[in-house]
Amino acid sequence: MKNIFEQAYDHKSFKEQGYQLIDLLANYLEKAAVGDYDKVMPTTSPEDQLYTWDTEHSGKDLNSFFNKVLVNSTKLQHPKYMGHQVSPTLPVAALADLFSALMNNGTGVFEMGPASNALEYQICEMTAKKFGMGPKSGGFLTSGGTLANLTALLTARAVKLPNAWEQGTDKQYAFLVSEQSHYCVDRAVRIMGWGAAGAIKVKTNNRFQMDTDSMISAYEEAKKNGITVIGVVASAPSTATGSYDDLPAIGKFCKANDLWFHVDAAHGGAFIFSKSHKDMMDGTEYADSVIMDFHKMLLVPALTTAVMYKDRRLAHSTFNQQASYLWAEDQSDEWENSAKVTFECTKLMMSIKIQAIIESYGFELWEKYLDRVMELTRHFEEQILKEEDWELACSPEANIICYRWKAGKDLAHCNTVNTAIRKEVIEQGPYYIVITNVEGKTYLRSTIMNPLSQEADIDELILQIQTLAERFK
Ligand SMILES: *Cc1c(COP(=O)(O)O)cnc(C)c1O
Repeated sequence: MKNIFEQAYDHKSFKEQGYQLIDLLANYLEKAAVGDYDKVMPTTSPEDQLYTWDTEHSGKDLNSFFNKVLVNSTKLQHPKYMGHQVSPTLPVAALADLFSALMNNGTGVFEMGPASNALEYQICEMTAKKFGMGPKSGGFLTSGGTLANLTALLTARAVKLPNAWEQGTDKQYAFLVSEQSHYCVDRAVRIMGWGAAGAIKVKTNNRFQMDTDSMISAYEEAKKNGITVIGVVASAPSTATGSYDDLPAIGKFCKANDLWFHVDAAHGGAFIFSKSHKDMMDGTEYADSVIMDFHKMLLVPALTTAVMYKDRRLAHSTFNQQASYLWAEDQSDEWENSAKVTFECTKLMMSIKIQAIIESYGFELWEKYLDRVMELTRHFEEQILKEEDWELACSPEANIICYRWKAGKDLAHCNTVNTAIRKEVIEQGPYYIVITNVEGKTYLRSTIMNPLSQEADIDELILQIQTLAERFK
């Protein structure tokens, strides 16, 4: 009789349970691909969901537990998933995730993950070069865009204000950011202790891009008010409407004024892998730092984000001022212990999830994926433009589209109706769409993430929201 440890590590039960789990997930993929679930998102209320779960040992087999989780989860691989910018992850990348979970090689320290560390270095270098960041560029992977932005902004602070890490800062410093930037940028600046004034929100133009004239006047204004701006954060694109800031113009402005230029390309950086869309990323050659989520538009499971620098060695100044250029070259070039330059101590084997995709499909899959989701978004746009009662926030530059019913008696009425439409869509199923507020107007919002979605899925959604709007008129 095996003891509990021998049972728990038994390779035969692993194999048996593993096959069962793969069967369950393969069955999910088969059904999801053809939309064979009546709801993308289960509409159980948060309270009922709480009642569904407890931490008692149920005595049932593991497979029924996994099955119950599946039933109660949002199904991103469903072609009628058109909500937040979360990836319908590729099955091969999910397999690599399983591998990472079992091998558990902490990638912050070389000795704890030799393979995943070296691969991480190669992937970030390759990606930074694709962004045109130059011969010294490179970086590392970290857990999510939020943490990546904070890390890059801390590097900017360390480089521009070399005493800050030891002594803190007493004067008011700031970054210029678009008012449409992701909330995590504002958070990052507040974490640095610069308060609300640390993120100067620059007005956007009618396409929700940072208005570059307003950026220049905000810079002058800050100077007048005794605030020292140390850098500009551009969004590529912004989250709500998917609008790309004018990277070349902002980059040149930063160069001319000796400011750190950071590009938050969490969502859209992926487009460097598309020959037909990579010009959207023009301007990153000016960037001092760029971040990009592999877990958004590159189909890798969360969280997998690259932080890249024009001069990779500057990463060493982030958490240890002593280590910046004061260090001997050879030391500051240390790449193999990324814990020195990231927040994480223990880190996942993120790189193998990315490489599993490259090994399986080369860059072709990403390229085709990006082109296809853009094609579907164009179709969505064309269909909305045909409808008299509907309008877009702006013509989508990426695969994010914001649309609203506009035929109500006033703005408040329209907002109420759009909110009600979204609620009803979710409750009726199968679609999952989200909602956003841009400059006081409530928009329905879809990000086309699933390359198996078809034009007909979009047409059906538009028909459904039209019909609902009639009802709320
Ligand atoms: C998604 C997103 C983030 C946040 O990234 P997480 O990986 O969700 O932490 C930051 N900035 C932009 C522009 C984003 O689209």
